[in-house]
This record gives sequence, C-alpha cells and structure tokens, in this order.
Amino acid sequence: MFGYINAIVLLNRPLGEIDRRYLVFSDRLGKISLISKRGSLHYNSNSGILNALNLVKILISREGYSKSYYIQDAELFSGYPNIKSEPKKFAAAYYFLYILDKVFQEQNPNVKVFSLIRDYFQVLEKEKDIDYFLFKDMFLWHVSMGLGFMPELKVCSNCSKDLSEKNRFFSIQTGGLICKNCTSLEINYKKISPGSVNFIKEILKSKLSKILSLRYTSLARRELDVLSERYLSYHSEKNLVLFRNFLSGYEIKE
Ligand SMILES: [Zn+2]
Repeated sequence: MFGYINAIVLLNRPLGEIDRRYLVFSDRLGKISLISKRGSLHYNSNSGILNALNLVKILISREGYSKSYYIQDAELFSGYPNIKSEPKKFAAAYYFLYILDKVFQEQNPNVKVFSLIRDYFQVLEKEKDIDYFLFKDMFLWHVSMGLGFMPELKVCSNCSKDLSEKNRFFSIQTGGLICKNCTSLEINYKKISPGSVNFIKEILKSKLSKILSLRYTSLARRELDVLSERYLSYHSEKNLVLFRNFLSGYEIKE
C-alpha cells in the first residue's frame, strides 16, 4: 500500500485492451503514471472523476517490487466547470498542463509547482477578465522559479557588475540581465525596459492574487512576449510550443 496523493489529471487513455493509464501531476510524487485495472471501481470512468484537468484525491498502491502504481480509489475535489466551458480558459489550462508534462520527468516531486498549478486553475475558474498572455507569462516565470531557474535581475548575469537603470539587456543564455559591456561578447540579448524588469520581479516575489492586479505598460507586454516561453525552454532544455501557436491549435485568436 502506498497511500493518498492529491493530483491534477493530465490525460487518461486505454492501455492495451485491458487496463487504462492515467498521467497525473501530484503533490507527493510529481508527474506520475497510474494504472486502473479493468473491473476496478474507477476503470470505466463513467463517473468522470478522472477526466483530464480534474483536481482529485487518489488512493494508490504498488504491488511488490513493481514500478507501476495502481489506482484503488479516487475522489473529485474540483472538475473546474467554468474552465471547461470557456474555450480560452480551457486552452490556457491545457497549455499549463502541456508545460508541466514537457518540463517534468516522472516521479520528480515538486510540491511548490503542484500548489502553483492548483492556484492558477482556481484563478482561471473564478476570474472573468484575464489577460491570457500575461497570465501565461506569470505561470511560466513561476514554473522556471519552481525548477530553480531564477533569472538574475540585480547584477549583470555574466560579469556580476552593477547595472545602470538606463541600459538594460536581457540574455536568456546567461540567465538574466546583462550590462552594456557584456552585450559585445556575441551573447544573444534584447533590450528591456525598467518597467518590464520590475514586472518580472513582482511576478517572482508576489502572491498570485497581488500580481493579477499589477499594472503594466504596452511596452512591457511587447517586450515580455515569448520571453517567458524561450527562457523556460532554454533552461529546461525542452522545445516548447509558443502559447500563441498553441492557441491557434484551438482556433482561438489573441
Ligand atoms: Zn556584464
């Protein structure tokens, strides 16, 4: 016997002709595959408890020295009805699950990121006016931080010199801001305004409820566009689909 885990269901699909496999992101075990045996209580999933996107509590077990975990019982915490009925909310939620699936190995627990996805889903479920592009940026910076890829925003990430307020450049490869001198070293970089830097700082230090009410300029929105995806993509060494391309797969315009 192993015990209970809290989890968000990433996907479920048949496993051969007999069993059903679920991929979930859980608090205690991180991303993990679970098997539901034919004939077990939740195999038919008619109850909808283990549908993708659901927040659930699952009783799991492992038999002997087997590496596989089996579902013994499941209880629904939230099915997020508003997310599922609003196409943009749904696409954003699926993008977040896609990111977690891409950047996490199986059985690599990260309780912080589990609370993060739960908090973001809660906001998606409740809030009406969401700027989905900024919301996605917030999530990606938080995931980067949760994985330990905190951007350097105080001193030059290449030579550690203090930075002037005027000339600020962001380099994904060196992991944060760089000074004017270091831009001559053929490092890929882009100019970034103090407003954008402050916005990223706020995202990284504040609670989600506070960040949602932050004001930002159209310049910041432009400068930050795709930076969060590229930053996480580079540091996690995973090719990530850009949010805007992901949306077009759902036939949703910006
Ligand atoms: Zn420098």
